[in-house]
Amino acid sequence: MLSVEEALQKILDEVDVLEAEYVLLLDSLGQVLAEDIKSGINVPPLDNSAMDGFAVRSEDTQNAGEKTPKLLRVVDTVLAGSISKKELTPGTAIRIMTGAPLPRGADSVVQFEHTDEGKNKNAARIGIMEQARPGLNVRKAGEDITRGTIAVKKGTVIRPAEIGLIASAGHSKVKVTRRPVVAVLSTGNELVETGEPLPEGKIYDSNAYSIAALVKRYGGIPKVLGIARDDEAELVEKLKQAQDADMVLTTGGVSMGDYDMVKDILARDGRIVFWQVRVKPGKPLAFGKIKGRDKNGRETSIPHLGLPGNAVSCMVSFELFVRPALLKMMGKKNIAKPVVEAIMEDNVKNEAGRRLYDRAIIEKRDDHYYARLTGPQGSGVLTSMAMANGLVLIPEEKLTIKKGDTVHALMLDWNEEVNI
Ligand code: AMP
Ligand code: MG
Repeated sequence: MLSVEEALQKILDEVDVLEAEYVLLLDSLGQVLAEDIKSGINVPPLDNSAMDGFAVRSEDTQNAGEKTPKLLRVVDTVLAGSISKKELTPGTAIRIMTGAPLPRGADSVVQFEHTDEGKNKNAARIGIMEQARPGLNVRKAGEDITRGTIAVKKGTVIRPAEIGLIASAGHSKVKVTRRPVVAVLSTGNELVETGEPLPEGKIYDSNAYSIAALVKRYGGIPKVLGIARDDEAELVEKLKQAQDADMVLTTGGVSMGDYDMVKDILARDGRIVFWQVRVKPGKPLAFGKIKGRDKNGRETSIPHLGLPGNAVSCMVSFELFVRPALLKMMGKKNIAKPVVEAIMEDNVKNEAGRRLYDRAIIEKRDDHYYARLTGPQGSGVLTSMAMANGLVLIPEEKLTIKKGDTVHALMLDWNEEVNI
């Protein structure tokens, strides 16, 4: 049986980075830039004021101070977005607002707070009470982005700051590695769609929701196919609807039961790469490739992960195996979740002989991370997953972990406030 690392490597070896496409700038959030963004303009385009105040010639402010104001004649007012037609000549000043281009002849700006403007609004003369050095409160043309240079490099993950930067260079569309479309199919005779009445013996299909939510969270586009009964013909039929997807995720039907036929279909109609991983929860993971067709009718080979049916197992398997694969497909280089060292606050027994990923609350106190379990660790107990912000790793060779021992904790979320 494969280790987590071996299984992940086999999955990563079978998935490729997707092609690039142009999208609207705002839609690119979280995606990887597939081209260098060059700026055809200087940002800012002109020297401009960083303050509301008076544009002056610095030499006119020699020895100006609180007690020794220099009186200058106000010849114009210039707002952001306008250009003053006046040129500053010796002994004059122009009222200027933040962002307005610096008038010709001016080399600095004295902010209102350092003038007598408060006492003397809109007067024809202004008392300057600060000696300005050349360049004071002036933002130079091109100080943010210089025309012709690369503003954002190919391969960068686009965050809000990059979106702003790309917009300031004037682009409304960007070329990014496209998002994977991920088909999500639940399997099981016991499953009922939410919103329907619940007959005796049945349960609601929660996996479709949690798995589709994870796909969304990590930047993919979920295509929810609903529920397939544990019936070969129905499963094969439903899987046909996944033909144009970039990845197929099924839940359930991969354990040892009589009706666990997902892995058999995968082996028969596709190619199975592995089944089972030395991990708990999540042992019965199946991975292979199934035949698909792209929008041009060409045959493709789609990665198919048969996730375990239990509500927590499929989520943990997703975090360990699907998330890195999706990130790779989206062109990301940093595909590992953060891991911290944490001091256990509970005793843990490992009777499984596999690596455990136990749900925990990881908190930082006095410069150390501490981890405590969120309660019952049954692989169907979603409440303890909902309470967790991380998973603690208990190595397969460790039979017990004692309170006070240090473990590795995989951070699912970094929020240190936990809602319990
Ligand atoms: P299986 O691997 O198909 O035997 O499923 C293992 C367990 O997970 C069973 O108790 C199933 O009822 C449960 N399960 C399977 N699919 C889902 C689902 N979509 N939503 C909630 N629980 C599920
Ligand atoms: Mg089942």
